Amino acid sequence: MIRLSRGDRLVLASHNPGKLLEFEALLDGTGVALVSAAALGLPEPEETANSFEGNARLKAKAAANASGLPALADDSGFCVAALHGAPGILSARWGGPARDFGLAMQRVHDEGGAALDADPSAWFVAALCLALPDGRDASFEGRIDGQFVWPPRGSGGHGYDPVFVPNGDARSFAEMLEAEKNALSHRARAFRQFREACLPP
Ligand code: IMP
Repeated sequence: MIRLSRGDRLVLASHNPGKLLEFEALLDGTGVALVSAAALGLPEPEETANSFEGNARLKAKAAANASGLPALADDSGFCVAALHGAPGILSARWGGPARDFGLAMQRVHDEGGAALDADPSAWFVAALCLALPDGRDASFEGRIDGQFVWPPRGSGGHGYDPVFVPNGDARSFAEMLEAEKNALSHRARAFRQFREACLPP
């Protein structure tokens, strides 16, 4: 088990400024200070693993080795049963070089076809990995199940939010307030586990 202490610095293995803000908010009050991989000039490794957890681990380990500090990485995506779990770890890439998620959602709809009409089950997954420079690591995975809906609904959120309705709700993620989505999302579920296991009590 790995437990960080108050005053520790933690590298976020991401060059995405939005993620830095999100994780800073999550760490608020824990006494752990977040440093971005970009601020340290760390290279971004290629995501070559075949699972969310594998990609999160590869990014966390690369950042911990390069910085000599504990490092946290995440990997997430949207999975559709009728597409055998695709787009999955390729979720960002289905948006093409322009990260056009209108296109990515259309592709899920088109490739899913009749199989998707028959079984609209879909889920989001978020994996988090904390890695230490001494080689130890700990991984956590959060998942939220629901249904693929077509056409897309709502204007909030990002990525595949407009085509996902979580079980137990009638609204898509893009129709919810950010705080409502954040309370039940896959990322929140992974983060809760990480917090309980690894952050200062
Ligand atoms: P990454 O973990 O930043 O590589 O994100 C993977 C991709 O999964 C994103 O570009 C989105 O397309 C998709 N994704 C992950 N989480 C969400 C979410 O909460 N809503 C919508 N799309 C998501």
